[in-house]
Amino acid sequence: MSLNHLKNLKNYQFSKPDIDMLQWWLQTRKRNTWNYLNPLQYSIDCNINIETAIGLFLTCTHHKDVKTFDVRSVAKCPNCDSVITVENGCIEITDFPSFCSECCLPIEETLMDNFTEIVFQLVVDPIPPVFTPNPPTGVNTIRAEALTSSKLVTNNSSSVKSIVDRMRKLNGK
Ligand SMILES: [Zn+2]
Repeated sequence: MSLNHLKNLKNYQFSKPDIDMLQWWLQTRKRNTWNYLNPLQYSIDCNINIETAIGLFLTCTHHKDVKTFDVRSVAKCPNCDSVITVENGCIEITDFPSFCSECCLPIEETLMDNFTEIVFQLVVDPIPPVFTPNPPTGVNTIRAEALTSSKLVTNNSSSVKSIVDRMRKLNGK
C-alpha cells in the first residue's frame, strides 16, 4: 500500500502543500523511526504549524479513508523515566499502577498526562514513493520535544479539540 490515499486529506480541510509535505516527510523517514513518529518533529522539519501537524496525524489515525498511523500512549515514570504503562489506540491513559516497579515512586495519576508520550506508528509502507515532492527549503534538523497527552488534551485549536474529543470517547474516557 502506498501513500496515495493521503490525497483524501483534502476532504478534511488540509491544504495541498501541507499534504505533499507530509507525504515527503513520511517517505524520507528512516525505517527504525516508523514506530515512533512525532507530529512535533514533522512540524519543525517542514515548518508546519503545530496544530495543523497534530490535526494531520490524528486525522490519519482516526479516519479510514486516510488511515496511515496507529497511535500509542507510553507513560514514563516522572522520577526514573522507566516505562510504566503502554496503551495502544489511545491518546490518554487512565489506569496506572500505584507505584513505579523500578524506583518504587508512588504514581500520581493527575500528573501523568505530562509524562505520557504519544507516538504514531506507520501502518502503510511509504516505499516506493509514487510521487515525492521536492524537499522543503530550510529543512530543519532540530530535535522536537515529545508530544504528550497533556499537550493534546489541553490543545486550543478547535479542529484538534474535536478529533481529540472523538478519540477519547471511543476509548471510553
Ligand atoms: Zn520510577
